[in-house]
Amino acid sequence: MRFCVLGSGSKGNSTFIEAGETRILIDAGFSGVEIERRLAAIGVGIDSLSGILVSHEHSDHIRGVRILARRFNLPVLVSRATKTAAAKELSRIEQWLEIAPGCDLTFMDIDIHPFALSHDAAEPLGFVIRHRDLLLGYCTDTGIVSRLMQHRLAGCHGLVLECNHDPEMLKNGGYPQPLQQRIRSHEGHLANVDAAGFLVDLIHDGLEHVVLAHISETNNSHELALATVTDYLREHAGAIGDSCRVMISLAHQDRVGEVVCLGQDPA
Ligand SMILES: [Zn+2]
Ligand SMILES: [Zn+2]
Repeated sequence: MRFCVLGSGSKGNSTFIEAGETRILIDAGFSGVEIERRLAAIGVGIDSLSGILVSHEHSDHIRGVRILARRFNLPVLVSRATKTAAAKELSRIEQWLEIAPGCDLTFMDIDIHPFALSHDAAEPLGFVIRHRDLLLGYCTDTGIVSRLMQHRLAGCHGLVLECNHDPEMLKNGGYPQPLQQRIRSHEGHLANVDAAGFLVDLIHDGLEHVVLAHISETNNSHELALATVTDYLREHAGAIGDSCRVMISLAHQDRVGEVVCLGQDPA
């Protein structure tokens, strides 16, 4: 299994996943042309996609869903509540597959395990994607983390994890108070330190690669997000154990991230 965060942040999110013959996007929050361009940058033809899995209805996640689904006749995997909330943006799509939190679904070569997040959308979902014995977790757009999320994401070999903001930068960053409150609320976005703490709970010997995603351009920096997480992991090294060698990389808004292959033993 391999995956690549094609782009992530408040202006657009999309992640490509390939397993066996199956190629999906989690979210398509850029224009169709932009997603095509970003897929081409990693050597993937947009007409080879198998479907689009939708996390929630915010425009930075669904902007390109309709155009891609219609142009390439792709099934869209979405929950009923999200589909209703985005009825206009997702109109005139021919193929649907309904997903629901807690209900596992097999789609071609992958199993999809959707689980509930805490975010100001109709039914925001995180996912675990399984192919054979490899698990990829996807968890962005959540204000808090829960035991349920921890339970669902336990044992993942790859993980895309929100690392949205630094609380001090949010406080001093010039965002109006109501927007600040929305971001830091339980239904907002995950702070660096909360992501770091969650990662310590999730880390295990089999976790190969974590991509920090949905990093705010105003209330965070890539350096700070990475430093907060790596410092936190170092502080908790005793609890993590020596055999864990997780790679951590960063998702970007304006460019394609690293293509990560899971399940390949380092030579
Ligand atoms: Zn978002
Ligand atoms: Zn959102």
